[in-house]
Amino acid sequence: MNEHDSEKVAGVLLARGYRQVETPESASLILYNTCSIREKAAQKLFSRLGVYRDLLGGEQKIGVLGCVAQQEGEAIFARAPWVSLVCGSASYRNLPQLLAQLEAGEERVSGLGIDTDETFETEVTRRDNPWRAYITIIEGCDKACAYCVVPFTRGPERSRDSARILAELRKLAELGYSEVQFLGQTVNSYADPSPRKMRFSELLLEAAQVPGIRRVRFTTSHPRDFTPDIVAAIDAHPGICNHVHLPVQSGSTRVLRAMQRTYSRDEYLEKIAMIRGARRRTAITTDIIVGFPGESEAEFDETLSLLDVVKYDGVFSFKYSPRPNTPATAMPDAIPEEEKSRRLSLLQEKQRRIQIESLRGLAGNIFEVHVDGKSKKENHWHGHSSCNRVVNFASTQDDILGRYVAVRVNGCTPNSLLGEHTSN
Ligand code: SF4
Repeated sequence: MNEHDSEKVAGVLLARGYRQVETPESASLILYNTCSIREKAAQKLFSRLGVYRDLLGGEQKIGVLGCVAQQEGEAIFARAPWVSLVCGSASYRNLPQLLAQLEAGEERVSGLGIDTDETFETEVTRRDNPWRAYITIIEGCDKACAYCVVPFTRGPERSRDSARILAELRKLAELGYSEVQFLGQTVNSYADPSPRKMRFSELLLEAAQVPGIRRVRFTTSHPRDFTPDIVAAIDAHPGICNHVHLPVQSGSTRVLRAMQRTYSRDEYLEKIAMIRGARRRTAITTDIIVGFPGESEAEFDETLSLLDVVKYDGVFSFKYSPRPNTPATAMPDAIPEEEKSRRLSLLQEKQRRIQIESLRGLAGNIFEVHVDGKSKKENHWHGHSSCNRVVNFASTQDDILGRYVAVRVNGCTPNSLLGEHTSN
């Protein structure tokens, strides 16, 4: 999402007549986009700003964007007086105006409001991937997970008008993009503000019918809002990718309550059963936090057992670490760092075994692979399946970059499939 924000910000600059340069030294304006999902994000920001100051000698204007800009606010000007612009992601729609103020000679400008019902609409968006385009369909988040900064940094949920989303998609298809990824912190909580009131599943179906669009992805889904019509849409149209990223965070209902995730273990498993009940075999991936304050050994074991039950196709796992302004920072019974690390490695090792077993079971299957790169090894390529698996394969053809080809699987590594290009 942050990467796509950067693409959109670059689009705003291009529309104002700016031109992109290759190095910080040759820039007259540097915008540094930040993310606070990692620990010590503020510390890293100030050390990077120090590097810019030393490297650039004060000639350039420097701006800070994103979640850390939102969190630190105008305190950034006090700690790094060589910064001219601070803007949180909920205020990006004000960027053209902030840039105009800077160009008019103002020393310091900021956009830090989060109480908004507007979305960030851009005319021009510079895109880094030649085939896969990202489209934000919903910004902000109205959930209140106890560990998460997003509601404080990105503001309340605001969905974009479905007609504007589809118009943007048609334009992208005309430009040659064949794959789109709809983005949102809780993408499936999409609520069309236009009179058409399209459901999320209807938007997926309509997007999949846009001429030239071969694949429609979406991320990240919130389990509470994952409804049967989304599964029905995946079943109804092969252009909607058979991959669902459904973060669970913990396998223990008690921990889920403490996290304020709004579902229990059983309710989550009902959603999994619904997806598994689809006609198309759909890959499921998830996010897990280990060592949330107060997580007992038995509760952690429930997360391990969830892995056995669901058999995820991929897991992004993290040690809990506190974030400023979040309720979880005040919770008692912090888990010691070494214990968090122990739990994380146990979980990752378990998942590694589950994943290898399921990837091995795919030998002999044929996948449609979108070829997105050439490997160093001669006659070898890599790409993604509709279910978002990485596939490395051999092909004697040399003009397949960007194409969709059939690959027969003949092996695997812990994280990818191996195969060969086939005409069947
Ligand atoms: S749903 Fe996601 S973005 Fe929203 S508060 Fe929870 S973790 Fe954060």
